[in-house]
Amino acid sequence: MNLQFNDRSVTVAIVGCGGFIGSHLLDAVLCRTKWRVFGVDLDFYRIQHRLNDERCEFLCADLSNPEVLNRIAQFPVVVNLAAICTPSRYMSEACEVIRSNYDRPVALAEACAKSGAWLIHFSTSEVYGRTGSDSGELSEDETPLSFGPVGASRWSYATAKLLTERYIAGLDGLKWTMVRPFNFVGPYMDFMPGVDGEGIPRVLANFSSALLRGEPLKLVNGGKARRCFTGIYDAIDFIFAVFAAGTNRQLNMADAGGVSEFSDSPAYSQIFNVGNPDNEVTIAELAQRMRNIYASIREVPVESLPQPEVVSGEDYYGVGYDDSMRRMPNVEKAWKLLGFRASMGLDDCLRDSLKWFVGHYA
Ligand code: UDP
Repeated sequence: MNLQFNDRSVTVAIVGCGGFIGSHLLDAVLCRTKWRVFGVDLDFYRIQHRLNDERCEFLCADLSNPEVLNRIAQFPVVVNLAAICTPSRYMSEACEVIRSNYDRPVALAEACAKSGAWLIHFSTSEVYGRTGSDSGELSEDETPLSFGPVGASRWSYATAKLLTERYIAGLDGLKWTMVRPFNFVGPYMDFMPGVDGEGIPRVLANFSSALLRGEPLKLVNGGKARRCFTGIYDAIDFIFAVFAAGTNRQLNMADAGGVSEFSDSPAYSQIFNVGNPDNEVTIAELAQRMRNIYASIREVPVESLPQPEVVSGEDYYGVGYDDSMRRMPNVEKAWKLLGFRASMGLDDCLRDSLKWFVGHYA
């Protein structure tokens, strides 16, 4: 693979180009490269401003159609971001979640294996499963992965994602890279319940919606779980570091930890955590930070906002809810092989996301 950013003959396929990550990636590819984009999604509202771009072709389709799969796989690079990833749906629609996160991406992987396309597949940090509050750093190639029982249907998503990882890694002839995102946040994330989506989105959109509506932030089981939130612009920089690895460039050997030879690209056949360990907070702390930032954006005293409220996981999400208590990524592999580290601080991520949320929905 010899991908040069100024090569007008390259087309990258972005599956899920209308989603949160996909819409940012689309903008970045069009701004930072001369490539063309073949974008596939079912919903294009986030990318209206790109629909008439002459460097783009869009297809409204899902991956259940073999002809669509073959069309996507004809391009040299395929980034697959398409997935159902709304936590409340993991309990209520387990089978559809599994179809979306196993059947469809596996079919795409098979098409890519046949055509020779490089598949950059987005998995999830949720594959680390039911981590305890004392769990240490999670490493791509060492940490054991264990989920709750089948009755705890929260794990339908993680199970499907993990099986897809195993399938991709075992597929003969496939050139692949996989990504485990650690709670990416930023503008255009998720939805506002009752306005442009139903169910319970991830915590950031949920807290933002509650702040805007003047309702209490709900702390599931006391908000003791910890997460490392990662700015979307860092996530996009990571994808560009992966693309850059497709140029066969040699990394600085000191940064690469002594690796002196790359088989073809340092990104091939690798799973990468993408997260920011410096941004770890409990969900209860996140609620307080978001209240403070929201108060400063709206220029109101923070005391005027309702206090957070504790709710039980089962009451909030339904029967079958379970949780990961800590998700701390080890990010050394992305640094050693790709020279990438996330750098956007938590308050900047939250301010950026909240400002967008207020501007978009207020
Ligand atoms: N959470 C919460 N209140 C909400 C939404 C989520 O306390 O309104 C908690 C949830 O129980 C979990 C954490 O926030 O412990 C992160 O949840 P999210 O759904 O964002 O994604 P996850 O990281 O669990 O995949």
